[in-house]
Amino acid sequence: MGRPHTPTEIAKVGDTALRIQWEDGHEGYYTTRYLRGCCQCAACVDEWTGEKRVSMEGIPLDIRAMKIVPVGQYAIHIDWSDGHSTGIYAFDVLRKLCPCSRCLALPLSAV
Ligand SMILES: [Zn+2]
Ligand SMILES: [Zn+2]
Repeated sequence: MGRPHTPTEIAKVGDTALRIQWEDGHEGYYTTRYLRGCCQCAACVDEWTGEKRVSMEGIPLDIRAMKIVPVGQYAIHIDWSDGHSTGIYAFDVLRKLCPCSRCLALPLSAV
């Protein structure tokens, strides 16, 4: 176990995607819709049951990240164009969410 992964750069790619460059050289592309759907905040995921309260169908196709704000040394906060603004994405969660084929091939516990 090393220290948690840290992004060196988070950049918007057009209106509907983000590119995250990680310090180990890995690069991940995330669509905004995917990230919005993966929000872990109490409004999106039931704290007790872990059940998702947000469905992909309910997320606009053209959802945009209006504002990306660093939270301490471990996370980012995203203001979404659908008005949702309570989501915090910890770096280790973001890394686990990386949708690239290399990351998807790994079991979550090994990431
Ligand atoms: Zn949320
Ligand atoms: Zn990846």
